[in-house]
Amino acid sequence: MAQEPYDIVVIGSGPAGCTAAVYAARAGMRTLMIAGVTPGGQLMLTTVVENFPGFPEGVNGPDLMDRMREQAERAGAEVVHEDVREVDLSTYPFKVYAGDSEYSALSIVVATGAASKWLGLESEKRFIGRGVSSCATCDAPLFKGAKNIVVVGGGDSAMEYALFCANLAERVTVIHRRDRLRASKAMQDRAFANPKITFVWNSVVDEILGDVRVRAVKVRDVKTGETGVIECDAVFVAIGHAPATEFLRGWVELDEDGYIVTRDLVRTSVDGVFAAGDVHDKKYKQAITAAGFGCMAALEAVRFVEGVKLGQVRPQLIAKAVGEKR
Ligand code: NAP
Repeated sequence: MAQEPYDIVVIGSGPAGCTAAVYAARAGMRTLMIAGVTPGGQLMLTTVVENFPGFPEGVNGPDLMDRMREQAERAGAEVVHEDVREVDLSTYPFKVYAGDSEYSALSIVVATGAASKWLGLESEKRFIGRGVSSCATCDAPLFKGAKNIVVVGGGDSAMEYALFCANLAERVTVIHRRDRLRASKAMQDRAFANPKITFVWNSVVDEILGDVRVRAVKVRDVKTGETGVIECDAVFVAIGHAPATEFLRGWVELDEDGYIVTRDLVRTSVDGVFAAGDVHDKKYKQAITAAGFGCMAALEAVRFVEGVKLGQVRPQLIAKAVGEKR
């Protein structure tokens, strides 16, 4: 049976999604936040967040996200834990398909963030859940007492993972494809100062070796071509993220890396559909900037919905144009 359309459907429940839901609901909009089966975004995978204003002692990422979701609910947003499979923007109200449900929306805020990238090795796939992971905060405690843990990558995530693992394992080996880190100076300093962490520079992992679990990685020096084997109990891959936009392909303009193309900060190529956070922001990618974008997207969505209700906006024509373009 067709459901009454929501004024604003927020897709995603990281800092951008939760903030959008708070602003939309507080503006009196009937708001649904489709939080995903694994809600909360990337902060769920982090330990202490020290740069989110208002928490001088730092705050645990998952705790911060619990509080943001609670705030959205208290503001009046409904929350469902489903993954969005598809949208249909050639009809108005817009349609959003999540799990087995179908929702309609006068406006949509996309705040689906970005997911971890993988190395793309066949052996990596084989060992996921058996020693290979993209989330040290979630899985490294399983390797407490390990002789060696490998972390792949040279960014802040890799340093954070290395430091986290150093509290649990005897040794941590960071394998990075260049001879210098991308991570912030503060994180580099901490990692370099930790005697348990060693670095293998200019090197890539070609294969993950093991039996029922990970035993080692095969590495190759990209400058000399020399290969070697490093024994380890676990491999944490921290090589960046890819935006979660597959369900929008063909509907909303995406760039070559799959990020939503925006104008005026949060507007997408479809009127009434707004983007917030890491799903379009390649540059800043911070919880606080994502929250800021969530606020902006919600304010724009509220204005759009008000326009629709006053008859000033003709979204049916937009939907028709989107359908024809597709
Ligand atoms: P990132 O900054 O994009 O770094 C990704 C790293 O992985 C880079 O060093 C990159 O190498 C390497 N890499 C990429 N593809 C690779 C491949 N196929 N094989 C091997 N190595 C590969 O990603 P991130 O570390 O996840 O950080 C994302 C954002 O979140 C950043 O803005 C970061 O500052 C922020 N963050 C902050 C904190 C914190 O403040 N505590 C913690 C985590 C993340 P190259 O350097 O050669 O490109």
